[in-house]
Amino acid sequence: MENLKKYSIIDLHLHLDGSLSAKAIIEVAKEEGIKLPTYDEEELNLFLRVPKDCKSLNEYLERFDIPNYVLQTTNGIRKCTLDLLNRLHEQGLKYVEIRMAPQLSAQRELSQEDVVKTLLEVREESPIRVNFILCMMRFENNKEANLETIELAKKYYGRGVVAVDLAGAEALYGNKLYENELKLVKKYNLPLTVHSGEATDYKEVDLALEYGADRIGHGVHSIESKKTVEMLKKLRKPLEICPTSNIDTKSYKSYEKLPIRALFDAGVLVTINTDDMTVSNTTLLDEFKVVEKLGFNESEIKQLTLNAIDAAFISEAEKEELRKLI
Ligand SMILES: [Zn+2]
Repeated sequence: MENLKKYSIIDLHLHLDGSLSAKAIIEVAKEEGIKLPTYDEEELNLFLRVPKDCKSLNEYLERFDIPNYVLQTTNGIRKCTLDLLNRLHEQGLKYVEIRMAPQLSAQRELSQEDVVKTLLEVREESPIRVNFILCMMRFENNKEANLETIELAKKYYGRGVVAVDLAGAEALYGNKLYENELKLVKKYNLPLTVHSGEATDYKEVDLALEYGADRIGHGVHSIESKKTVEMLKKLRKPLEICPTSNIDTKSYKSYEKLPIRALFDAGVLVTINTDDMTVSNTTLLDEFKVVEKLGFNESEIKQLTLNAIDAAFISEAEKEELRKLI
């Protein structure tokens, strides 16, 4: 479709650490004396991209080790984030919500707050409109760090931070374990998105909705429950679907098996996103090409973009500006 690029303008589910370029990683590593397995871009990509025979979401998550080495300094975060924003600009994106976990970049010298402040400085230099979603992580013994992330989101909300997310291995650490944290986010009136129903079934989506999630990360397995689909529809809670990522994590065996069409036809607010551009070696346009191959016609593809605009954590005036572009 000729117009496919025109609709590939907004990404709501994009992880910073999964979307760094090999070039930016090598540049920062050289400046900071960080040891990499190779300093050749092509070779490094083999360490950053998910292997074809990847077994699970857990193995997929190992691809984030190298990116997180170079996101431990103001310089590293700045260079890598700007590099990503410049690439998104070149690809024609007009608005993006980039998510990251400040606690993952607070392993050496930076505090979580330093990390957030750096992101907000980069935002001032961005060639495209960008806001940040702060991720809590599903780990053992990191409750304090997650609570700190929520407090930072509260402090910087409206200044470039637009929401809180919960990311990580949902099959190992389900939403129930984070009930208090998720409810606190809503008590603070902060927008909330939760990775759910990606590697697990619809029950995790039900829990995320019960705890007040405004959007669901992936949520593809919602299709297994009529009740869950009805809830998503009735409450108008958008799904942030990331097709290639679902194939890479072995959540589904093939694009044809992904229930994007079924969810869309059921009236759920489906949006199309990339998740991790580098790990999955993809772009937003590539993901829209997948959707086109699955049989979505132009007006349906336009609807997917309109859904994303509706679902964005921005003001109605900003949404109206984006709508004019398509
Ligand atoms: Zn994700």
